[in-house]
Amino acid sequence: MFPTGSTGLPNGTSAVLADVSADESELYFQRCRWCNTIAFQRLLCPTCGSTDLAPELSTGEGVISVRRGVSAAQSDLWPVHMAEGFVVRCRVDGPPHAVRPGVRVRLAQDPVVPGRRPVVRLCEEATIDTWY
Ligand SMILES: [Zn+2]
Repeated sequence: MFPTGSTGLPNGTSAVLADVSADESELYFQRCRWCNTIAFQRLLCPTCGSTDLAPELSTGEGVISVRRGVSAAQSDLWPVHMAEGFVVRCRVDGPPHAVRPGVRVRLAQDPVVPGRRPVVRLCEEATIDTWY
């Protein structure tokens, strides 16, 4: 028989929690180091032409913006005005009648693949106004 529960060692191994944020989708935008202009997937700063664009992590929250001239093949693509002030064309995952400009959306959990459109979902809870 071995004695149990009296090793005296700190219980450190189980305290190492995995960083689960790696499983969540992350959307990076760019901020110009020279003039602070915010851009998305640009090679040059749209304002000053600098190539010194620093990646920053977006909160993934935004509002669907107005679109025009959309082909049927792009019917689920909408420009989304993100909280940080840049606009991304996203695939909006939601019922077509509910997807319209002004609706709040949030980045879906699907991984953001470079070259593919990010996927956003409707923020249903955000559309409910609670008055006290
Ligand atoms: Zn700039």
